[in-house]
Order: sequence, then C-alpha cells, then structure tokens
Amino acid sequence: MSDCNCFLSLTDLAVGAMDILFPHRCAACGKKLLGEHKRKMCSDCRSDISFLHPPVCKICGMELKGDKERSHICGRCLSNPPPYLLARSVVQYSSVVQKLLHGLKYGADTSVLPGIAEILSQFDLAPFDHCDHIIPVPLHVKRLRQRGLNQSVLLAKIIFSNKPQSTLKTDFLIRARNTVPQTTLNGVERRKNLKDAFIVAQKAEIGQSSICLVDDVFTTGTTVSECSRVLCRHGAKEVKVITFTRVESAQCGT
Ligand SMILES: [Zn+2]
Ligand SMILES: [Zn+2]
Repeated sequence: MSDCNCFLSLTDLAVGAMDILFPHRCAACGKKLLGEHKRKMCSDCRSDISFLHPPVCKICGMELKGDKERSHICGRCLSNPPPYLLARSVVQYSSVVQKLLHGLKYGADTSVLPGIAEILSQFDLAPFDHCDHIIPVPLHVKRLRQRGLNQSVLLAKIIFSNKPQSTLKTDFLIRARNTVPQTTLNGVERRKNLKDAFIVAQKAEIGQSSICLVDDVFTTGTTVSECSRVLCRHGAKEVKVITFTRVESAQCGT
C-alpha cells in the first residue's frame, strides 16, 4: 500500500508551490487567488455579479421586477416594437462588470477575458441555437485602430466557442461613420447619432438568414436596433441579440 495517503500528493504540493510563486489573480480586481486557482475572479467580485433571471420581456429581455407571472412583452416593446426578434443580456451592469469591460475596451487588457468567460459560461444559449451568421457590432476602422481590438468580436468568440469560427462574420456589417460615443447622448440624440452609421457589405449572404448580433452593453438598445434594422432591410429573416450586460439608465453603454 502506498504511503501517499499520509501526505499531500505531489500534484497538491506542485499546485500549492505554483500558487505561491505565480499566484493567479482575480480578472477584475487583480487580488491574489490563493487556493482558488480554478476560479477566475475573487469571491468579492463574484458576489457583485448579478445574472438576469426570468421573468423578462419576451422581446427586449428587460427584467420584469416584482412580476411573479410568466414573462410577457413590456410596455415599451408593445408600443414601439424593436426590429430584432429578441434580445438577451447575461448580467446586470455593475462596478465589477464595468471594470471588466472598461479594461477590455479602453485598455485592450485581455487579462480580463477569463473572468468574462467564466460569467458567459453560465449563460443559456438555447434561444440562439439556430443562427446562420454571428455578427459582432462593428467599430469604425479609426476607432478599431485606436483601441486595438473590438470587444464585441472577442465576446462573440467566447459566447459561440462551440460553433465553427466560419459562422463569425466580421465583414458583413460595417460602421461607415465614426460616430460620437453613445455614452454622452440622450435617447433622441443616440438615434440621430447612429442614423445610417451601419452598412451591409455582404448583401447576398444576408438574405433569408438568421443572425445573432453580439454587443457588449444594452442601454436603450439604440445600437442593436439600428444594426438589426439595416440587416432586416437587406433581407435578414430574423435578428437575435446577445449583449454581455444590460443597464437601464443612460450612464454608460449603447
Ligand atoms: Zn476580485
Ligand atoms: Zn421589452
């Protein structure tokens, strides 16, 4: 009989030593994750993450707080139906979510991606099973050069990591105008700002197709609505929207 039962296994010792020498750090706050090497974020940051739960509006995905009945269509979607079939967000906007996204968007800090992936792995993709094309909301080429990456492309790659990469289309939809960031504008200004900002570059491919549109933040839904409108105008059968986070106030996002 091996005397290994009396001691920590070599693997345990090796993992412990690696933890001390090269500690994993929380993807959001950078705190050392001693003994939590399988997690990507510390318990404090994880406790700040709040997933969106039913009941939600069947179309825009807004959480229907205090409504214990089944999901229905919210008043906003009833009075002004959006051009997309449905929109779903993974988590509510919070300080940790903001930290993750800002690191990625404005600092090109890809070390936050494992934290984002950990969150996204809990998202139910069932409503997005059958889509022909996955289209991330595009950045204008000038902004893409400034930032070094498009966060929506990276989110789409993580969300749909089980689908063939060929379904991810980064050249089907193009941002033709370098618009003012939506964060600084109110609802009416946001719509004006994005009018004719997007064009479809691969018209023949869009016709009769089912599209999953991916963006980072859903605030008023203006950006994803404008993209959906353009895609539908070019014959898309349906557009379903996924955003990493959702914020109701106009403090950030698009
Ligand atoms: Zn943390
Ligand atoms: Zn709604």
